Parts: sequence; C-alpha cells; structure tokens
Amino acid sequence: MTTILKLESVSKSYGSINILNKLDLSIEDGEFLALLGPSGSGKTTVLRLIGGFEDVTAGQILLDGDDISLLPINKRPFHTVFQDYALFPHLTVASNVAYGLAVRGTPKAEIRRKVADALDLVQLAKFGDRYPSQLSGGQRQRVALARAIICQPRLVLLDEPLAALDFELRRQMQQFLKDIQRNIKTTFVFVTHDQEEAMNVADRICVMQAGRIEQLGSASELYRKPQTEFVARFFGENNLIPASSEEAGGHGPTVNTHLGKFTCTSGEKHMKGTPGILAIRPESLTFGAA
Ligand code: ADP
Ligand code: MG
Repeated sequence: MTTILKLESVSKSYGSINILNKLDLSIEDGEFLALLGPSGSGKTTVLRLIGGFEDVTAGQILLDGDDISLLPINKRPFHTVFQDYALFPHLTVASNVAYGLAVRGTPKAEIRRKVADALDLVQLAKFGDRYPSQLSGGQRQRVALARAIICQPRLVLLDEPLAALDFELRRQMQQFLKDIQRNIKTTFVFVTHDQEEAMNVADRICVMQAGRIEQLGSASELYRKPQTEFVARFFGENNLIPASSEEAGGHGPTVNTHLGKFTCTSGEKHMKGTPGILAIRPESLTFGAA
C-alpha cells in the first residue's frame, strides 16, 4: 500500500478556539477510510481541510508527498459529495453528471460516452433525461456519486452522504458505495457518526473525539484491541474494570483488579503498578467448572 494523502501535524483554530491540534493522518491509495466520531468531534473539519474549503492554521497536507495546503479547491484533484447532494435542479441528470467535464472543455462525444458509462455504473442508465426533482432520494444520491467519479478524482470526500435516507435504503446504499469503490479503486474518505455504517463500508476506521484521533484501524482491530477507553466503549458492549499492572505474564500483561488477577490476551505490558482498564467483551466470558 502506498500513502496517497498525509496530514502532518495539522491544526485548525477559529479565532481563539482550537478545533484540531497537531493531527497526523495517513490515507492509503485505494482504501475506503471512514472518519467516525460523535457530533462535534471534528470530522467535517478534517474533510473540509482536505478538500480545501478551509485553510489549515498550522501543519501540512501532502498529496503524493507534495504540499497542497495552499492549493485552492478547484486545483485539488478531489471531489466532495455533500449531504444534500447539491445537484443543479434546472439541469437533467445527464447534464448534472456531465458538468465537471463540460467546464473543462472536454469534447462532446467524449462527454456523452463518459456520462453513459458513469450512469451505467450507478445503475441509472435510463434516467439521463430526468430532472433531480423527478428522482427518489437514493437515486439523487447515485447521481451525486456519478458526478463525483466522472472526472476520475484522486480522492472522493463524502460527508455523511446517507444521513437523509431511511434505514433500509441506507443499508442498500452502503453496499452500493462499497461495491462502486471496489470497482473503480478510487480512494474514498467517508464521514459518519454511525459505528455500524462505518463498519459496513470502510476498510479502515479513524475514530475521532474532541478533535483528536483516538485510534485508526480495521473494525476488528478497534473491536478486539481498543487502545483507549473511549474506543473500548464506542463499539459494542464491553465490561471495563479498573486494573493495575502486575509483572508481565507469558502471553500478555497480568493485571490486578478487585475481582482478582487476570492474564490478558492483548494489551501492552507496563511497569508494575501502572493503572489501566481491563476490558472484557461479554461474549468472551465462559463459565468454568467451579
Ligand atoms: P463533526 O463533523 O464531527 O460533527 P465539525 O468538524 O463540524 O464536527 O466541528 C468540530 C468543532 O468545530 C465543533 O465544536 C464546531 O462547533 C466547531 N466549528 C466548526 N466550524 C466552525 C466555525 N466555522 N467556527 C467556529 N467553530 C466551528
Ligand atoms: Mg460533520
């Protein structure tokens, strides 16, 4: 895997209010990355900084190793899909999808071919002549996606794109997005506050809280090896018990708790007496003979 985009020590403040503080993030070429966290954790801010809608206060954003922190939006080879889709109501579906190519002066025949391909990909081949008002929410979402990928951006940035859809449709669109992303192999950065949605779509999940990255990893890494209490609580059920380190055991660290001594299967070994939290998933507990 090669890194496509890197945030290095990126900070963002509005006036005296610090939103992000020295954030480091590496995005791999071709991956589907979810930025996941509660409302106000800074997900949209990260996406807007990447897209160029906001300037970084400090730090750098690197694309293929080149600093793009000062490039204007239209010079960055990215496309952002907004929650409200932002389709042009007075243009047909085909013209909406063609827009990005048309403003670049792409020849008409090439536009026609690429629009047909893109509409095919999002399964809207027969809808080119309709207007956005004549489509369902899910169909509009797919037009926005066709419009996003037609210019072959290096990154597709999506900010809670499914939030307006009902549960069943949301599930379908998650699968659809994932299939399309696998198909075109373009890097997707997807913002959501929904753990299940992140697990459904993403290869890796970046968990954010209060402007910080708590942990970045696959769903199973976050579930099985949470590095912070926040992550341990954020995914599924967990029993969290105050603990302190004993001497290091054979497999993993041994800890003392008010329930007795435990040898852990994961976690780091620390100096004796270091305080921490023992996390036990309910499904990992079994009854012994006694
Ligand atoms: P999320 O997308 O995770 O819900 P945001 O990135 O939108 O979070 O916001 C993170 C924090 O930054 C919030 O506390 C929000 O109030 C603050 N914030 C966002 N935009 C601005 C702005 N233009 N001016 C001041 N504060 C802002
Ligand atoms: Mg947001």
